[in-house]
Amino acid sequence: MSTSKLFEREDVRTLLEWLLENQDMELSPELDPSRGYIYPELELLGLDPSGKILEELAKQGILTKEKVGEYLVCPKCESPLHITQQACPYCGSSNLQKGEVIEHYGCGYVGFEEEFLQPDGSLKCPSCGKTLRLIGKDYRRLGDIFKCKSCGNFFEAPEKVYLCVKCHHKFKEKEGKMKPLYSYKINPDALRKLSELIFWPSMFSGELENRGFKVVGKPSVRGKSGVTHTFSLRAKKNGTEYLVDIYGGKGVLSSENVAPFITKVIDVSRSPEGGEKRFVLASTKKFSKETRNLVKSFGIEMVEAKDLEDLKKKLAGLLGSEIPFPIS
Ligand SMILES: [Zn+2]
Ligand SMILES: [Zn+2]
Ligand SMILES: [Zn+2]
Repeated sequence: MSTSKLFEREDVRTLLEWLLENQDMELSPELDPSRGYIYPELELLGLDPSGKILEELAKQGILTKEKVGEYLVCPKCESPLHITQQACPYCGSSNLQKGEVIEHYGCGYVGFEEEFLQPDGSLKCPSCGKTLRLIGKDYRRLGDIFKCKSCGNFFEAPEKVYLCVKCHHKFKEKEGKMKPLYSYKINPDALRKLSELIFWPSMFSGELENRGFKVVGKPSVRGKSGVTHTFSLRAKKNGTEYLVDIYGGKGVLSSENVAPFITKVIDVSRSPEGGEKRFVLASTKKFSKETRNLVKSFGIEMVEAKDLEDLKKKLAGLLGSEIPFPIS
């Protein structure tokens, strides 16, 4: 995917706006007991937490990555979720018993102490029936040892095996695949290019706060569907809430580009939460006629600007106006 296409993606814009706002932020993986490694910040932004997007942006040089560890995955399904078990090194069975083991020299029988132990405390060989008297002469103790209940072999150290929680495949450590784990940060070398394409919310807060708005960057808003949506910013004044998305870059803003915003608007405007809401789409791109009509039909207000400074001024002007765009 080309870089410009990448920047048109809603999830990319959401993440980069947030990262530009929090430039020291490092996104580190955490192990979730049911889903494997995830990036919690992505989840909070309403994005796929698996980290695919981070890898895509790292490939384009927008993020830098650093290896922070490795983890074992199932060789069959690549799931990182597994249970560690002990297994017989001879047959692989996990049906093991551990205990004090005795070897009878007389007949060579080897077994757990409990098989030899008599009610009076003496030891008798369960195989040949002889009584064991002198340690070192009649018998010896082999210590705490494992016995495989499947194949009958004794051994000191069981093998470690992993049972995949997802596909139930059983594998040894050397059969599993190691996968690297990365943390990601914004690449300082990409900042200049980024700031032409993506505007970060706090660029606008000063202007709006001067006009009496309470501004929050990257607010999470729950829609009627229960899904959480993230906008570029929220500005509140006198009980009216403005939810704004800002698209940077040059060129034409197509109806395809604004579809994700419209989806959010529909879901959020149907939600009973909060007071009166106005939705604003601001961009340094040119709205095509089609986009203009589409956006209008959903009662969304538009700000079209030449550049960042122009956008700041026009957005503040629109939000300061008392008369909302009539919502049909
Ligand atoms: Zn065995
Ligand atoms: Zn014996
Ligand atoms: Zn598996």
